[in-house]
Amino acid sequence: MPAPATTPVLLHNGLLIDGTGGEPVKDGAVLVVDGTVRWAGPSAAHPGLPDGTRRIDVRGDTILPGFIDCHVHMAAPGTSMSHAEIAAMPRSLLTFLAAPRMKQTLEAGVTTARDLGGADAGHRRAVESGLLPGPRLLIAVAMLSPTGGHGDFRAAHDDGAVDSTMGRLADGPAECRRAVRGVLRQGADCVKIAATGGVWSPTDQPDDDGFLEDEIRTITDIAAGHRGKKVAAHAQGRGGILNAVRGGVASVEHGYEIDDEAIDLMLERGTFLVPTLTTAHTDPDPAKAAPWAYAKKKHWQEVARTHIPHAVERGVRVAMGTDCGIAEHGTNLRELGHLVDCGMTPMGALRAGTSEAAELLGLAHEIGTLEPGKRADVVIARGNPLTDIHALGRPENILLVMKDGVAYKDVDGLTGEPISR
Ligand SMILES: [Zn+2]
Repeated sequence: MPAPATTPVLLHNGLLIDGTGGEPVKDGAVLVVDGTVRWAGPSAAHPGLPDGTRRIDVRGDTILPGFIDCHVHMAAPGTSMSHAEIAAMPRSLLTFLAAPRMKQTLEAGVTTARDLGGADAGHRRAVESGLLPGPRLLIAVAMLSPTGGHGDFRAAHDDGAVDSTMGRLADGPAECRRAVRGVLRQGADCVKIAATGGVWSPTDQPDDDGFLEDEIRTITDIAAGHRGKKVAAHAQGRGGILNAVRGGVASVEHGYEIDDEAIDLMLERGTFLVPTLTTAHTDPDPAKAAPWAYAKKKHWQEVARTHIPHAVERGVRVAMGTDCGIAEHGTNLRELGHLVDCGMTPMGALRAGTSEAAELLGLAHEIGTLEPGKRADVVIARGNPLTDIHALGRPENILLVMKDGVAYKDVDGLTGEPISR
């Protein structure tokens, strides 16, 4: 169990980037009391410090909010991805394998992650209770998918069991109702659906439609009626992207073939794009990937390269998500560099990974910025990400990670306390 964060802490002498998109503060500071941000601003202007406050000199490095990855799969292994291997594993083994990945993700600077298929309420509780170090988790349990869609990992000749760790099948609004209520009953914080086919599902293509608009609308309505839960749509081809946006989803995941028609609708409705460029830019391993998956992946990487920068240029709201699990775990902040390569400003990319991601998750009142009253999720990163955003993607540059005021990584011993978690 992490010790409760009782000692007040003043992190000072850093470049403060608070996640709001406001001007960075040179020689900035953050005061953390009881796991909460009490104050943030120029060091010279800090308020009176509570008795016993520990002062931590961050030596000119950068103070940032903890990052938020809106698209991970803790149950999936990374680049050596094979659904056949996953399907053959006992559930308990998948869970044990997820534990070090969760730690790795936290140490990469991600203090909150949304798992869009594979992790269940046990993963979330293991972190909440302090049993395992990891990012605060939001879970979708499994991806809902039509038969033969992106959540249907059966080989074409296989007519056997339909549900798997990652996918759960439903066809038509009536079955969609049952399926969405099923994942909500299992504690889903959000709902993941397949609005198109995908790369790793054996019997479809990324531009095949998944759920149709009436099915998607059914799901978004039911989710909204459960304390405003949001729906994330895996959507790669243009037709499915449009079905998803018209059906009322909160985010288009991947969005590789996004076009002006979809962009117009998303701007009108405030729909987020989570472009998962980390996985888009990860080359498939020809030794591991099935030939059909390899061919799909190579083609759709190019589709993403041509369409995503246009969506960025037109100002679609972007939240950071990596699809780590399909891409390698633990280097999540590479995504920020990819976003800048697609035309975002470094500050825009930092917002996508903090305050904008918090908006998408419905948690902007708790996380995503370093403002009074927010949870004290704080990252100290080496150097200045506004001049070298790519440095954040190398975990050795993430010097300190604090979640709810508790340090989980402290490579230089800045806190003066050993980290043994
Ligand atoms: Zn995914």
